[in-house]
Amino acid sequence: MPPLPVPPSVNSAHRLALDPIATPERLLLGPGPSNAHPTVLQALARMPIGHLDPLYIDLMGEVQELLRYAWQTDNRLTIPMSGTGSAAMEATLANTIEPGDKVLVAVMGYFGQRLVDMAGRYRAEVVTIERPWGEAFDLAEIEAALIAHKPAILAMVHAETSTGVCQPMEGIGDLCRQHDCLLLLDTVTSLGAVPLHIDAWKVDLAYSCSQKGLSCPPGLGPFTMGPRAEAKLAARSGKVPNWYLDVSLLNKYWGSDRVYHHTAPVNMNFGMREALRLLAEEGLEAAWARHRGNAERLWAGLERLGLELHVSEPLRLATLTTVRIPEGVDGKAFSRHLLDRFGIEVGGGLGDLAGKVWRIGLMGYNSTPENVDRLLAIVESELP
Ligand code: PLP
Repeated sequence: MPPLPVPPSVNSAHRLALDPIATPERLLLGPGPSNAHPTVLQALARMPIGHLDPLYIDLMGEVQELLRYAWQTDNRLTIPMSGTGSAAMEATLANTIEPGDKVLVAVMGYFGQRLVDMAGRYRAEVVTIERPWGEAFDLAEIEAALIAHKPAILAMVHAETSTGVCQPMEGIGDLCRQHDCLLLLDTVTSLGAVPLHIDAWKVDLAYSCSQKGLSCPPGLGPFTMGPRAEAKLAARSGKVPNWYLDVSLLNKYWGSDRVYHHTAPVNMNFGMREALRLLAEEGLEAAWARHRGNAERLWAGLERLGLELHVSEPLRLATLTTVRIPEGVDGKAFSRHLLDRFGIEVGGGLGDLAGKVWRIGLMGYNSTPENVDRLLAIVESELP
């Protein structure tokens, strides 16, 4: 008889002996994630149930319905993608772009550039219009670009987290209908916090995240698709070139068939349900007014301290404020000091604004007058 094979011995080189996880208290006043609401954390910590359990199926319906409320849409295809905001972003593009489609991206910051990159990967012919970082587009330039390029899709960012600009949306959807083009909108930093009307604005595709205005940890990417975008998906000549994000497959799980696609992150959806329940309890108008009021308190306080805000008042985003770093101050060292000494996170600049601004977020659970006053007092005492 041949000798039995000797199993390999276990290599313990990577076997760390760790203590259970312990994280410090942080107040996350940067570009996201934001602190999660305590009852959302309780929901996340519940024992999982099966992702085809009838109770979970009921919960899926509740999450979809509350997302429709948050987005102000009746769209049937409204679901949380299992992934972060970028997964939902990719889903909007992957499902609607066919190779060679012209996609016009209105770029006014870092996340517009990400849309350009992603759309190109799905073999769109990408064209762009651009604004300096800190400005927004007006209707005339959007219309001129629609006429010049005749795109199948116009993609843009509602709340540009890299600049602190809120793009005015009135009229853009009408232009897209006139020029037979889908309107795709990034609402990652606006959902639940800034006025947002998907149906009234005639937005055909939108996506968001869990970790900002919704007061949940990162991990889900809300996605919504209207009838015009559904029609484009149905008319595709080939398969969606991304299995995981294919809405025609996902809809068999989220729609009435309940066919297994992938194992849903059930606990993340427990958290999402609780976050959306809290938003519905507060009411959208109240949540929008709270974010606006606290942002105005921050803006007035920063200006009182002699700091300059990067974005002009009418375009400012309530969830994210860009503050110019004063001459002679080491912006990175100051944010590090806030984190080390006070446990407060504020963000630095991205892309064109790297080294030039701090980014202060007031999102979801963190948008309170107490947080604004605490930050202002610390900035006043600590800024050199
Ligand atoms: N779009 C915008 C405007 C964002 O701010 C972000 C993230 O901050 C994303 C997209 C990507 O989302 P995520 O980081 O959750 O993948």
